[in-house]
Amino acid sequence: MILGICESPEILRVFMVIKVIIKIIKIIVPILLLVSAALTFTKAVANGENKKAMQSVIRKCIAALVIFMVPTLIGIISNLTSGGYSGALNCIKNASTENINKIIVADAEKYVEVVKKSKSRADLYNARVAVQKIDDADKYNYYEKQLNEVETEIVREEASKYQQTIGDFVSTDAGWWWPVGSKETTSIDGKLFAKGSPSATRLTAYFGGNDSVHQGLGGGHGAIDIGAGRGSNVIASKSGTVIYPTRGARIDYPDSYIKPDANGKYNCRGLIANYVIIDHGNGMKTQYSHLYKNTILVKAGDHVEQGQVIGLSGSSGCSTGPHLHFQMELNGKRVDPLKYVSNSNPRP
Ligand SMILES: [Zn+2]
Repeated sequence: MILGICESPEILRVFMVIKVIIKIIKIIVPILLLVSAALTFTKAVANGENKKAMQSVIRKCIAALVIFMVPTLIGIISNLTSGGYSGALNCIKNASTENINKIIVADAEKYVEVVKKSKSRADLYNARVAVQKIDDADKYNYYEKQLNEVETEIVREEASKYQQTIGDFVSTDAGWWWPVGSKETTSIDGKLFAKGSPSATRLTAYFGGNDSVHQGLGGGHGAIDIGAGRGSNVIASKSGTVIYPTRGARIDYPDSYIKPDANGKYNCRGLIANYVIIDHGNGMKTQYSHLYKNTILVKAGDHVEQGQVIGLSGSSGCSTGPHLHFQMELNGKRVDPLKYVSNSNPRP
């Protein structure tokens, strides 16, 4: 949807500033004029030179009144002549925080409806960008939930095209935990744990996946992507030793939303931005990527326990929306995490 100039939140914000400036001018200038008039009057009385000074006093008083009234008069005249506000006046009238928020939500709603029908990645991108702008947390969650449902449908449809086995988790080793923890956390000996049931289990990409986001990766997608909303607790799948981030490694990459090109292809490859790697011994390593900026709680050399929170999920790097890219490597070769982790892994 293309917004009219006075329905654009960015332009309305500018007009909010203009509105404040007009209000200040409308009050300050008349006050200055009246003060000046009073001074002239006092002087004139003291010096007995009445006529000329009184004219000046009257001029200043009239000017003060006019400046005070001008914005109101323009509004009234505009209403009478055109049957309503128009152009820039309309912008000024609409420029309130409440209105801006309403417009943002209405806009997001439209984009969400479009992608629900089209099930296209490009529309999903537009909808995510529009929903991101919503300030109200409840409304944001309401629309994000709908987008997540649409995304799951898109992912399943794409996966069925490249005949990826989907749906069933095949856990062959109960010793590993699903890498997204519960919402609730507990602190034990200064370490944060989120051991309860995972707050997110939705898959947005499979191992070896050749879906439209991961096309062109050569051997396919060497991990699983879990559609964890921004700020979900990412936990150590098993205990081990952190080997990344090393000292001085960058962990402040901002969230980004990668846009498909005109052919629906994604042209960014590889940047996993803020991430953690844990070495579990026996040739096994796990990697947790696209974490939210500056939320990584561990560093190379730390020993972490199973279920310990290592950071929060986000959308940093080459990512189309908040998710956890969870990768497992056995003796340097990537393996399908769904052979190890399951969303029903038992937890204490
Ligand atoms: Zn991934």
